[in-house]
Amino acid sequence: MAAPAIPTIVNVGYRSTNFWVVSAGTNRILVDLGWPGKAGALFANLERMGVPRAEIRYGLATHYHIDHAGAAQDLKLQGIPLLVMEEQVHAIPLMTQWIKPGDAYTAVTTHDNVVVPTSESRALLAGLGIAGEILHTPGHSDDSVSLLLDIGCAFTGDLTREAMVSAEDPAVVARSWNLLRDRGVTTIYPGHGAPYYLDPSPPLLQGP
Ligand SMILES: [Zn+2]
Repeated sequence: MAAPAIPTIVNVGYRSTNFWVVSAGTNRILVDLGWPGKAGALFANLERMGVPRAEIRYGLATHYHIDHAGAAQDLKLQGIPLLVMEEQVHAIPLMTQWIKPGDAYTAVTTHDNVVVPTSESRALLAGLGIAGEILHTPGHSDDSVSLLLDIGCAFTGDLTREAMVSAEDPAVVARSWNLLRDRGVTTIYPGHGAPYYLDPSPPLLQGP
């Protein structure tokens, strides 16, 4: 069997939020899923970047906040299955609390998603020709997950940078980053802002 090709990464984000398309040939996964009522902007960016929407096998939200998963149901209705980690299931209905009138939000139904434990994510991705896995990386929210590629990249959503921790539990945040470090991750594709280098050694924590 041929070794898996190196996946390609394209950003189809808008409104200061990154939506990443990871592709192995014509098998693609979309990481983070657009703002409520704004699936059209995402589809327009896909088209502009030359990504056929029919080739997106799954949409994955790094976590269920409206800027990352607000258009998830609209994408499902357009034929993009929603891949949900077991740790995320409880968070889906909670998203409605952040929705404001006029957001044109379509509530995400929970009976028709592809729900898998993180332990099965490697096999699922291998079926797409993508070498990697999806890890539970809480810290910003308890439903946060990261897509890791074996080439040393991770898509971390809003996982708080260790130096920026304020309201979060620093031990939970550090555990998530160290999980990624342990797997050899050195390049971070965040939910907002440009990709950056992850220092392989964790920062020294200050304070009491
Ligand atoms: Zn968030």
